[in-house]
Amino acid sequence: MRATHPDTLWRQTAGPKPVFPTATGVRKADVAVIGGGIAGLTTAMRLAERGVSTVLLEAEQIGFGASGRNAGFVVPNFSKADPETVARRLGDEKGRALLDLVGKGGERVFSLANAMGLGKQAEQTGWLQPAHSQAAARDLQKRVAAWQALGRPVTWLDVPEAAARTGMSVYHGALHDASGGMINPLAFVHGLARLALAAGATIVEQAPVTGISQEGQGWHLRTPHLTVEAERVVMCTNASETGIASRLGRAILPLTVFQMATEPLPEAVTRRFAPHREPVSDTRANIFTYRLDAENRLISGGMALSPLTGEKRMGRKIIDRLVQELGLSERPRLAHVWRGTAAVTTDFLPHLYALGPNFIGAIGCNGRGVAFTTMLGQVLADAATGADLESLPVPLAAARALPFRRLAGLAPRFYLAKGMLDDRRTMKNRPKGHATTSTMKGELT
Ligand SMILES: Cc1cc2nc3c(=O)[nH]c(=O)nc-3n(C[C@H](O)[C@H](O)[C@H](O)COP(=O)(O)OP(=O)(O)OC[C@H]3O[C@@H](n4cnc5c(N)ncnc54)[C@H](O)[C@@H]3O)c2cc1C
Repeated sequence: MRATHPDTLWRQTAGPKPVFPTATGVRKADVAVIGGGIAGLTTAMRLAERGVSTVLLEAEQIGFGASGRNAGFVVPNFSKADPETVARRLGDEKGRALLDLVGKGGERVFSLANAMGLGKQAEQTGWLQPAHSQAAARDLQKRVAAWQALGRPVTWLDVPEAAARTGMSVYHGALHDASGGMINPLAFVHGLARLALAAGATIVEQAPVTGISQEGQGWHLRTPHLTVEAERVVMCTNASETGIASRLGRAILPLTVFQMATEPLPEAVTRRFAPHREPVSDTRANIFTYRLDAENRLISGGMALSPLTGEKRMGRKIIDRLVQELGLSERPRLAHVWRGTAAVTTDFLPHLYALGPNFIGAIGCNGRGVAFTTMLGQVLADAATGADLESLPVPLAAARALPFRRLAGLAPRFYLAKGMLDDRRTMKNRPKGHATTSTMKGELT
């Protein structure tokens, strides 16, 4: 049965998809890559650039997973692990190498977008993270100092500046990373595929890998119409859980995230809450995010408390919240709502997984994967060409099924419900110098 494609804004605006020649029978390659998201495509591109013969197999169409469904925020850091935590968990040397990798993600995304000629579909405006409480402001100021010590273009904006950049008077300051910004993620995926093809990689769509077996020194990967015989395999299937993808999927917590986009808004309206056009993701547990696209459509998202909540209801809820938080006098018209699954690791860090001899996998998601997975391709290409896995900047983990995974899957909803109450309580304390209030009625249910 064919999977249905979600009603994303990006399918309407990304432009034509590259055409891939059909492939049947048996193909030999040095490396087989499974999964045509940002991680798989950057890996295939990097390998092909080194002259390594590479076949990428995608079950549906490239960008069918999180890479074609995300909000396109380019954020060069980890959402839950600040630089201090990373250094403590991995040690100074490895921690620094990983921070260097994620920190440079924004620059890499925009230099690739430039090479692809994405134009207005990629804007390096910087990324803004406003603090919803005094405690969050203190934490963010520490993060700013840590990123500055690592040489990153990260600064602290005071209360009036945060208000001027968002049009909202609830924030206690904001972290600003000048190397971040926003892209049309599906246009970026298409561009990566074109670069990979130009470098000599083979990409095959509608090729779900249904079986994989070790044969001599290498691996045979079976899809309905094609078998690939490869010396090495790289699996980039992220949160997918069906068939062989469950080898990675069972090691993470899947998180359903909804996104929506409005019809284009007049610039006189968007100038009030996005005068510099930066994408915004605040520090609330029930995170408030928004950005504009090239045509001034407003894009936002959220998680639902109930697993029964569908697209229509979530779309309405997210618009309610935008109207309330941004003080919009007219309700924008909803144009697209879609959902995707993000992969969350238990320590909120990306990981490499040794799945067998010359068979590796990786998860780089945790909700901020656009910049990081773009960098992951380099690391996976090193791993697939014989680098010692322990020497790479991304930590190695065992791809074990999480214990009590079904129950653990409820944890994000529990934390969201608790976080909503905490947000409501914390935000009663307004930053000094602002009389206006923004109520929390628009929270998602
Ligand atoms: C709704 C949503 C919003 C997000 N917003 C942001 C954001 O604004 N900024 C940000 O930085 N990050 C965001 N993220 C996270 C980001 O999208 C991901 O980290 C990133 O796209 C992961 O890329 P990937 O290549 O690892 O996986 P994916 O893009 O999920 O690719 C995996 C691919 O593997 C394929 N596959 C699965 N099984 C098989 C098989 N057996 N054979 C062949 N192929 C297979 C799938 O079809 C899929 O195309 C968001 C995620 C979601 C879900």
